[in-house]
Amino acid sequence: MPSSDRATDLAVLGAGPGGYPAAFLAADLGLRVTLVDPEENPGGVCLYRGCIPSKALLHAARLLGDARDAAELGIHFGEPRVDVERLRAWKDEVVGRLVGGLGQLARQRKVEYVRGRARFDGPGRLLVSGPDGDSVLRAERTLIATGSRPATLPGVPHDSPLVLDSTSALELSDVPRRVLVIGGGYIGLELGSVYAALGSRVTLVELLPSLLPGVDADLVRPLAKRVKEAFEAVHLETRLEELKEQNGVLRARLVHAGSGPERETQELEFDRALVAVGRRPNSEELGLETTKVRVDRKGFVEVDAQRRTTEPTIWAIGDVAGEPMLAHKATHEGRVAAEAIAGRAVAFEPRAIPAVVFTDPEVAWCGLSESDARAQGRAVKVVRFPWSASGRALTLARPEGVTKLVIDPESERVLGMGVCGPGAGELVAEGVLAVEMGARASDLALSIHAHPTLSETVMEAAELFLGHPTHVHRPRR
Ligand code: FAD
Repeated sequence: MPSSDRATDLAVLGAGPGGYPAAFLAADLGLRVTLVDPEENPGGVCLYRGCIPSKALLHAARLLGDARDAAELGIHFGEPRVDVERLRAWKDEVVGRLVGGLGQLARQRKVEYVRGRARFDGPGRLLVSGPDGDSVLRAERTLIATGSRPATLPGVPHDSPLVLDSTSALELSDVPRRVLVIGGGYIGLELGSVYAALGSRVTLVELLPSLLPGVDADLVRPLAKRVKEAFEAVHLETRLEELKEQNGVLRARLVHAGSGPERETQELEFDRALVAVGRRPNSEELGLETTKVRVDRKGFVEVDAQRRTTEPTIWAIGDVAGEPMLAHKATHEGRVAAEAIAGRAVAFEPRAIPAVVFTDPEVAWCGLSESDARAQGRAVKVVRFPWSASGRALTLARPEGVTKLVIDPESERVLGMGVCGPGAGELVAEGVLAVEMGARASDLALSIHAHPTLSETVMEAAELFLGHPTHVHRPRR
């Protein structure tokens, strides 16, 4: 039986990068807010077992890669010695510092933080169970921000300690000798890169014909080349048909499923397998059947432009409310929902949500991609500025990158941007601003960019569109 009863203006379920910014803003706007989450502090998947720990480890991977690449410049560091325990502790310190800070911010705003899991017992009544027992929370309005969890694969022994998901892979309990990464999306590539840099022999298997399925091929190419060098093997158009634990090792059967008559089968052994085949929304165990909230066939909560569900007092944001499952999309939605709940006229209508793959090189894009434009049959002009023509890229010994713009040929407005190369995740911010502001190619070309920087590649891509680039010669037709 619930031990206590409390009431609030707004209950926020889940304190990830969707839930906590929404709770903070709603409190700033004068609402009495209760934030419910199982962890000790706000942070969610992103801080505890997603964006932040993975980027901390990728930073370490990048240092190792840069030290190795320095040989090309005549600088030799010798073989690195990695103290895995210290690396793990440093990553945990980064996480601890951030989530501790969020706990403090919640207290400063007088957001009531309740540890536990909540489920609906009708709209407006929530049952919360946590370390301090069960309680009832009566809420005028509720915001669902319960996020997502790793998807599983049928036929894979997920209960084996040798089979990792992104959460256990980030714990970095050791550096296994041979790792099989199942899935060539961003999580598989990022975590595979970490383990490869730390010394594991990484094999990646992806069912589709390219890494980062759905991303423009020209952006993926430089990354694919480097991944092939860093990993033991990359098997595209390949299906994992069986994975079995036997005598302390994993035996995998891979079947090449590409075009062509023959189906090539390989049996390989691994010390660990990392399953990175996507994520599923956390919508099942919320008692939504006691409300009018509708969920689509993939499990995403259905919402309108203000992120209100089909139950008038309930809103939903972040991973549980649909793609793209990214922290910054969750945050923006959370802030929109908080304002809507506070009675403001707002809507979630982004033109450009950036996506970044934090590998080396990074891949980033925003707005309309070339492949989406083609799929929609939309006429666009695509320009690509090769980093081999960028002074800054050469001084960094990284000429393999590319910056591209997708432009409306009529209005000359920038519709999308893509970048591959170190720092792409920072560069794409200019594309987001351009798309959101309705900038024309001439706006980018006429804005002075500092020299020598990689940001000049954005300006020069715009100059390419206008026909007069400085560092690339295009003969007149
Ligand atoms: P979450 O962060 O998932 O938070 C939801 C919270 O709700 C969790 O704390 C959960 O425990 C809690 N919860 C669940 N059920 C209940 C309940 N019944 N009651 C109360 N609380 C509940 N995104 C990026 O943008 N950039 C990146 O670099 C990036 N890297 C990633 C790397 C990895 C390895 C992973 C796994 C994800 C990464 N993501 C990244 C995705 C990002 O983590 C998510 O998009 C983001 O965390 C979604 O935020 P959210 O607020 O919707 O939910």
